[in-house]
Amino acid sequence: MSKIHVLDQNTINQIAAGEVIDRPASIVKELMENAIDAGATMISVEIKDGGTSLIRITDNGSGIEKDDIKVAFLRHATSKIKTALDLISVSSLGFRGEALSSIASVCQVELITKTEDAITGIRYKIEGGKEVTFEEIGAPEGTTFIVKNIFFNTPARRKFLKTAQTEAGYISEIVEKIALSHPEISISFINNNQTKIHTSGNGNLKDVIYNIYGRDIANNLLEINCSNEFIKMTGYIGKAIISKGNRSFENYFINGRYIKSNIISKAIEDGYKFILMQHKYPFTAINFEIDQDLLDVNVHPAKMELRFRKGEAIYPFIMDSIHDTLVEKPNIIKVELNE
Ligand code: ADP
Ligand code: MG
Repeated sequence: MSKIHVLDQNTINQIAAGEVIDRPASIVKELMENAIDAGATMISVEIKDGGTSLIRITDNGSGIEKDDIKVAFLRHATSKIKTALDLISVSSLGFRGEALSSIASVCQVELITKTEDAITGIRYKIEGGKEVTFEEIGAPEGTTFIVKNIFFNTPARRKFLKTAQTEAGYISEIVEKIALSHPEISISFINNNQTKIHTSGNGNLKDVIYNIYGRDIANNLLEINCSNEFIKMTGYIGKAIISKGNRSFENYFINGRYIKSNIISKAIEDGYKFILMQHKYPFTAINFEIDQDLLDVNVHPAKMELRFRKGEAIYPFIMDSIHDTLVEKPNIIKVELNE
């Protein structure tokens, strides 16, 4: 008897899900990014028990057409790119077509969606990759995802989840970063029936910073606005007085995408070196607009790490811009150094 066989699609999806979905926060990230890609101006995120029992994400974006709904849950199904060539210019947050199939393979998912043209909405339920119901219902324009019982069919994964409080903390961090990178979208976050974040969507980054971090931070910011031929930097950087013993205050985004980058962190920190003590890290909320041609986002499924094609040009520019912004406001800095 032969011993080798090809795995069935559901098993393949469950294995693949491990790359994209490792905890409730990654579900929130993927679904919020989908809402942004769908042009939403309002996104609400509601969770219970650290997201392990319930995540509900509602947006007022384009909705999904009736005929596209089941397809959207297939692996590698996406409306965002057609060929590998499109990867060079991809500007949407998603493009791999892996999130919905992954989430549906390890959770119980209910989707309610309606497009502008549709007369009624659709409710689609899919659990562990298997369709449960597909029916017409009345619904507002946009999309709601209700995700329940995360990893209900993969106990090995469930075991690695931390306490509800810790998982809720990871989710809160994702919502914060997305709110900061999209001040033009009204974002709310409700944890166990308590509203934790609510941004107005008025496009003002400083208002979002105030909303998330409070007055002490919002009152100690310097505006940054620098550009060269490749890159444009806008947003706020904190005065030395609001620095912190870890990097959790370092927020930066590339073309509206929340990312982590060793080069960027290093450049920012080196720009601050002359006023920050060792092991102190600054507050920043910076959006970088970088020519898509200089970026390769297709590195990791979670898309947090970016690769730069001109890394050597990016580092000194960021460092100098930070440094210059800090010294160009000498009276402000003097006050701090005297303190
Ligand atoms: P990707 O985002 O990489 O395309 P996903 O699996 O996250 O893949 O989503 C599959 C497709 O489902 C998307 O390309 C999009 O067409 C559709 N979709 C998902 N979420 C939404 C949403 N909130 N609003 C409208 N369309 C959506
Ligand atoms: Mg997506």
